[in-house]
Amino acid sequence: MRQAWLSEILLLGGLVLAALLLAAFFGYFGWFMFAALLGFSARHLVQLYRLERWLRVGRVRNPPESWGIWGDVFEHYYRLQRRYYKRKKRLARVIREFRESTAAMPDGTLVLNSEFRIVWFNEAARETLRLSSSRDLGQPIASLLRSPRFKVYLEARDFSQPVQMPSPVDDSRALAARVIPYGAEQYLLLVRDVTRLQRLQTMRRDFVANASHELRSPLTVLSGYLEALAEESTLDSHWHEPLDDMRAQCQRMNTLVNDLLELSRLETEEGDASLEDDVDIPSLLDRIVRNARVEDGGRHDIGLEVLSGACLKGNDSELHSAFSNLVVNAIRYTAAGGQIRVRWFARPGGELAFEVSDTGIGIDEKHIPFITQRFYRVNSSHSRSKGGTGLGLAIVKHVLQRHNARLEVESKPGEGSVFRCVFPQQRAFYSAELPSPSSISAP
Ligand code: ADP
Repeated sequence: MRQAWLSEILLLGGLVLAALLLAAFFGYFGWFMFAALLGFSARHLVQLYRLERWLRVGRVRNPPESWGIWGDVFEHYYRLQRRYYKRKKRLARVIREFRESTAAMPDGTLVLNSEFRIVWFNEAARETLRLSSSRDLGQPIASLLRSPRFKVYLEARDFSQPVQMPSPVDDSRALAARVIPYGAEQYLLLVRDVTRLQRLQTMRRDFVANASHELRSPLTVLSGYLEALAEESTLDSHWHEPLDDMRAQCQRMNTLVNDLLELSRLETEEGDASLEDDVDIPSLLDRIVRNARVEDGGRHDIGLEVLSGACLKGNDSELHSAFSNLVVNAIRYTAAGGQIRVRWFARPGGELAFEVSDTGIGIDEKHIPFITQRFYRVNSSHSRSKGGTGLGLAIVKHVLQRHNARLEVESKPGEGSVFRCVFPQQRAFYSAELPSPSSISAP
């Protein structure tokens, strides 16, 4: 038994014994016993009063001195209180440091609660969004950042990417906002002024688009002359080879210019071109594969398998461009006699997928993360010799991004590759009316 309890019991026993002894001498057993128990209870009452007064003061200061069980109670409580105050101090320090560090951040930082109302913001946010503590704390963030894009971003609750929008205080400035969830439904909103970056990107895009456009006319003239020269019967035969070379290079430059223009159109038309048209994918694929077979001239076995009536909401010409780029790549990187399979099928969960698989040269795993970058080629000379521009997969990536789709690539060097475009269920629809070119196999 603990010392404290022992001394309490001894005290009670001592008092009862004293009462018994006194009663033995003087009689009045009841009175002496009553006095003994009264004394025992009085001690507890006094200690309770001291405990209550100490708690009432509510500060960490030395507990009242006592012995027996009350000494232990005071001691335990004192220790608990000190632990609690220490933790509180540590938390307060962490919060202060967090606020000081976010306050010093050059990006606007706002803390939002589970209803996206503003709980706190730093100096940079105050300046960027012209916030005021008295007016804006507690306000829903959507009432300050009223851009429809931001509204969709918040509602979708997919915060993996930032969202760009015009500044609510100055239309000529652009902001990038990113929500970072943390803790129990708390959100950190980072807001950055990206006006300069956006201007630079626009300048770069315009420059590429203008330069490509300007190159078109001289290229057309050159190609025209080269065609005419090639047909010239009086031309010395030793000119035939250089002429063929010049025509091939002109053709390559034409393809490059077209790809560059296509890419910059995809970038600039963000939000402009309709992405909600009904696209009859089975007949689109039928056209692509038919063309590919003609261009290929029977060197590969090109098969097509489609899910009848499965269509997409999207942009016909962009999807045509993305799908044909993948088919052209499969032909380009597969030796003659190889097999190419084009498939259009449904995946579990209602997703629709377009897949091109080949038995070609394949891609080493280490290159796969980079092949959608502009001008990235695993083997430049091989790509060039086959008429590649290094822009095909960049175009595919852009088109898929605009259609909320993703690209999956599986490949083994020497065995072949699979390129798969997976479209979300929201873009899929089924049409019984559209005529479907049922499974078409190689010619
Ligand atoms: P390119 O015009 O050079 O084909 P892309 O952007 O279309 O450019 O492709 C980038 C690189 O990815 C290619 O240079 C090639 O190395 C690789 N690649 C693309 N598709 C395939 C494929 N089906 N098989 C093997 N490698 C491929």
